[in-house]
Formats: sequence, structure tokens, C-alpha cells
Amino acid sequence: MPSGYRYVPGTRETIGGPSGVLDPLEGGLAAPGPVGADSRGFATYTGSMGVDTVRSVIAKSTFAEFRIDVAGFLAEAQDTADTCPAYGAILPPNLHHQAMHWQRYCYDRGWAGVHWPAEHGGMGLTRAHNLVWHEECAKAEVAPYLNLQGIVLAGEAIMRAGTAEQRERFLRPTLSNEILWCQLFSEPEAGSDLGSLRSSALIDGGHFRLNGQKVWSSNAQFAQYGILLARTGFDQAKHKGISFLLLDMALPGIEVRPIKQMTGDAEFCEVFFDEVLVPGDALLGELHGGWALAMAVLEDERGGAGAAGVVSLQRRLEAMRNRATNLGDVERQQLTDLVSRGRALQSLMELHGEDPKIAPVAKLMNSELGYDEARVEATTQGAGAMLDGDATDRFLYAPGMRIAGGTSEIQRNIIGERVLGLPREPRSSDS
Ligand SMILES: Cc1cc2nc3c(=O)[nH]c(=O)nc-3n(C[C@H](O)[C@H](O)[C@H](O)COP(=O)(O)OP(=O)(O)OC[C@H]3O[C@@H](n4cnc5c(N)ncnc54)[C@H](O)[C@@H]3O)c2cc1C
Repeated sequence: MPSGYRYVPGTRETIGGPSGVLDPLEGGLAAPGPVGADSRGFATYTGSMGVDTVRSVIAKSTFAEFRIDVAGFLAEAQDTADTCPAYGAILPPNLHHQAMHWQRYCYDRGWAGVHWPAEHGGMGLTRAHNLVWHEECAKAEVAPYLNLQGIVLAGEAIMRAGTAEQRERFLRPTLSNEILWCQLFSEPEAGSDLGSLRSSALIDGGHFRLNGQKVWSSNAQFAQYGILLARTGFDQAKHKGISFLLLDMALPGIEVRPIKQMTGDAEFCEVFFDEVLVPGDALLGELHGGWALAMAVLEDERGGAGAAGVVSLQRRLEAMRNRATNLGDVERQQLTDLVSRGRALQSLMELHGEDPKIAPVAKLMNSELGYDEARVEATTQGAGAMLDGDATDRFLYAPGMRIAGGTSEIQRNIIGERVLGLPREPRSSDS
């Protein structure tokens, strides 16, 4: 139980108070009744109450009360060692079982999918509540969900464009951990320039005949399904003949080969398709109309890299400073720079976090901050950073975050063109 949260039966009292760093969400609906209390007087969030009761109590609470409830739920789960430590957007193989358990634990208690509809297993709350969930998870250093590819990318895409049958079939099992997803977008010749993708899904009776290769597909070695972009129209402009498929990874003809990274882990994979017969009902949205949906998914991906990571920044930097002995002027200045940038990002998210135009700015600031933080941490550790350890892992992992979900250069292009309205950079098709 972290200091600062304590439930006093009949009231809700915060001792020491949550930091309130990002709490633009005060005010709201009617005050809730108590959820419950254990023998120590701490709020309970599971107990004998059914999932629906927990949901209806939460739905009536204000944002501030919701924040306290989230912190209490997380603390209770930490007490019983049911949580999984935070790991960012991509589920690392060594935390696979712990993360699967944590997702299921949340789902079984009505705490998964904060803004997803209740009919599909979610809490039926708003995106603002979801932001609170992410912030409290970041403070508690707990993973907010199983993986970004499933809960954010596949889930939002299916909610946006799925048929009733697809929603029924995929959403609840995604929240309950029965389906783990991967994202099959990038190809060896199509990363930043995704529209150049060449994997083909030829229409063949009631099926698509899939051939080609994907790469950097995080968690593909564990995934039951993948969100896939493939070319279905061949005589159309580059971005027009692409379809969005929900691919069953168990189909014959799919081969997954993990790629070892410099961290020593194999989080992502190459995926090969050889005459894979994909049922027609795997199509999400319009035939040949996958590009617009993919763009919306990429926006979600950039948005997913928002403020949550910086909520714990102050604490991480303090820990760094405490670990480092004889901090010189240069390191002190570097830490100050990181703190200032972290605060700027927090303020940006506080003021404009819900504006989709902010997503590339937040993604850029967050991944560059994470990279510089890892670099400064390694510098302050000196020779120790060359040995095995957490700082070394973070240092080796951080460069990938400037590439995953769209590189920093691409974010700058997007900000220039779509946010600032600068002239479009020349495209190869312009000449
Ligand atoms: C850890 C990690 C996890 C990933 N997970 C997934 C996943 O699950 N699914 C998936 O589909 N993909 C995934 N990716 C792939 C990622 O989306 C791509 O690596 C990324 O989009 C860059 O594409 P690329 O590697 O082909 O590099 P390229 O596009 O070839 O870029 C090479 C360099 O050129 C620069 N560049 C390219 N075009 C421009 C331009 N127009 N202006 C300025 N500079 C430019 C880039 O910034 C980069 O520095 C992952 C990547 C990483 C690192």
C-alpha cells in the first residue's frame, strides 16, 4: 500500500494526498458510496462485490475519487503480488506470464478496458478516466495493460470499424487475455514509407491468399492474432489498394522467426506468409480501404506514448541522483534539463492531451526524453553501466523507442506538415 491512500469507512480520505501532478479532471458526478473496507480499514476493490457492482460504484464517482479507487485497487493487487511491473508498450518475453496473469486479474475484477463498452467487458467510462488509470499505473510502476498492440491498436481498430460479429468475437477475449495480438505492418522495404508494402492478399473465392513478409513484429511469437496490412488491389494508387485483416496466427503457411536484439531479448520477429488461406471474414472495414484505418491506428499508437511515462520521471531522476555519487556540475545540469523537459511534457498533456494533433509531439518528446534519460543514467553510473544491470538494459533498450511507432524524424515531419502547416516534404512520387 503506497503512502497517501487510505480508505476510512464512510468517507474517502487521502492522507498526504496524491501528488495531483496531472489532475485537470476534478469535478464530475455524484459522490459514490464506499466500495468496501478490509480489516485494516483500507478500501477493498474486489472482495465479495460482483464486477457489475464495482462498475456501477466507479461510474458514479468523481474523477478525483476514481483516482483514489484506482490507486487503492493497484495497491491491493501489489500487496498480493498480482501486478506486473511496468514495461512500456511492448511486452518483454521474461514478463509474459506475469503480464498475462495481471491482465486477467484486472478483467476478472472489472478493472480492464477503462473506456471500453461494458457489453464488451470494459468499464464503460471515458477516455479521461483511462488517462487517470494510466497515470496511476505509472506512479505505481505497474503495467497498465498486457500490450499496446492488442488493447490499444487492435481494440480501437475493431471498435472503430468492426462488424457486430467481429466486436463480439474479439473485444472481450482481448481484454480477458485469451487473445494476445501483434501488429503486422512493417516490412523490410516498408517502415517509414508504409504505403510501399508488398505483402499481397489476393481475393480467391471466399478467402484471401496471403504471401509476403513482415518484420519487427513485436510479440508475434506469442500472438494468437495479428492486425495485418496487405495489398489487395494492384492497379490503384499506392495507398488505395491496401486492406486491413485480422489474421489468425495459427493458419497454415505462417512462419514466425524471433529476432534477437542487443538487449539479449527477442521481443520482435520476422513473419513469413506462404500461400496462407485467410477466411474472408478476417477483413476489417472496407476492402482496399485499410489505409485510413491504419492511419487511425498509428495515431492511437503515437497517442499511447503520451504522458504516462513521465508521471514517474521525477522519482526516476531522484533515484538516479541518489545512486550517483559525486554528481558534477555537468551531470547536475543534465538532470535539470531532463526534469524541465519532463515537466513541459506533463503540462502539454495536461492542457492538450486529448487533442489528436498532440500525439506526434508527445511521442517525440517522450521517446527522446527516455533515450536521453537512459544515456544520462549510464553516464552517471560510469564504468558500472558496462556491466549487466537495469541501467545497462535501459541504455540498450532506449534507442529502439525512437524508432518503434514511427521514428523521431517521421514525427518531426508529421508535426511540421500536419500540426504547424509547413509545406509538405517532397515525395518520390512528386518528381
Ligand atoms: C522496438 C521496436 C518494435 C517495433 N514493433 C513493431 C511492430 O510490432 N509492428 C510493426 O509493424 N513494426 C514494428 N516496428 C517497426 C517500426 O515501426 C519501424 O522500424 C519504423 O517505422 C521505421 O521503419 P524502418 O525500420 O523500415 O526504417 P526506415 O523507414 O528505412 O528509416 C531509416 C532511417 O531513415 C529515416 N527516414 C525515413 N524516411 C524519412 C523521411 N521521409 N524523412 C526523414 N527521415 C526519414 C528514418 O527516420 C530512419 O532514421 C518496431 C520497431 C522497433 C524498433
